[in-house]
Amino acid sequence: MIAVLKNGATDKQIEGIIEWIHTLGLEVHLSKGHYQTILGIIGDTQKVDEDLLSGLEIVESVKRISEPFKSANRKFHPDDSVIKVSGTEVGGDAFTFIAGPCSVESEEQIIGIAKEVKALGATMLRGGAFKPRTSPYDFQGLKAEGIELLLEAKKETGLPIVTEIMNANHLPMFEEVDVIQVGARNMQNFELLKELGRTRKPILLKRGLANTIKEWLMSAEYIMAGGNENIILCERGIRTFETYTRNTLDISAVSVLKELTHLPVIIDPSHATGAAKYVKPMALAAAAAGAAGLMIEVHNDPVHALCDGPQSLTPAQFGEVAEGVNKILTALKA
Ligand code: PEP
Ligand code: MN
Repeated sequence: MIAVLKNGATDKQIEGIIEWIHTLGLEVHLSKGHYQTILGIIGDTQKVDEDLLSGLEIVESVKRISEPFKSANRKFHPDDSVIKVSGTEVGGDAFTFIAGPCSVESEEQIIGIAKEVKALGATMLRGGAFKPRTSPYDFQGLKAEGIELLLEAKKETGLPIVTEIMNANHLPMFEEVDVIQVGARNMQNFELLKELGRTRKPILLKRGLANTIKEWLMSAEYIMAGGNENIILCERGIRTFETYTRNTLDISAVSVLKELTHLPVIIDPSHATGAAKYVKPMALAAAAAGAAGLMIEVHNDPVHALCDGPQSLTPAQFGEVAEGVNKILTALKA
């Protein structure tokens, strides 16, 4: 349920309503936008006397929200959310370029790639330390050592780091990580999402392999219900009957999500296509569709990468993508 307040409602009056709603055992999400102040009421809203609420002097209108996602709903928060990440921002006017290898392999590899992608326009560094691999016999990542190496690369370049968590027990190792990634396979690991809701870390929530947009937003809601509103959504392709690409990139998810939620949405064309040659056209399409950024796999030696070599770009290829995307962004502003 949302209550749209009249212009001119004082802080004291707003606090009064919030206190009253709290006494009913409900949560309130206050959104003070440029033009409107909105109270999003979460919980069993049957307890709220709608006539009483809409009759209050400072309330302009009251609406029930039919969608099951509340905190993530744009109706609760009409302005786009901008997620602050260690000195940079995701969403709003910013366009985010997250680049780096699928997995951290060595100090030389991660620091070398970090320096190169930074020089070519990356705003954050990615690299998997804990890798969710389909086969238990494949490289599983350097784990804690991988995180240490990412922190080294951050120290060298100043780039904030993004890396995936697979187990909530590992959270202490992620203390200095700037953005915690929840990968496609864990999008519906609800216990993990609840734990991340207790932190205030920015979370990059990838879409599950076979999940609807509604299910994805409900996963964001799990994190937000714990009080952590710092969520970046990442479309990375979904399973369809098509086999020429690793997954099918759902570009339309950007437009759908812009309508449904205030959370920023980025695109990962690397996992979506599985092939380096398709990354640039899909990255350009993502920028044209209005995505808030891109996550792209970049390796100094893709042929010998321990994970996802075929979809990895060289740093030079990443530079070409960034250049093309910047042209699209400039054209969109013109
Ligand atoms: C990744 O980004 O390294 C990854 C494993 O991606 P996804 O969860 O989208 O498969
Ligand atoms: Mn990968």
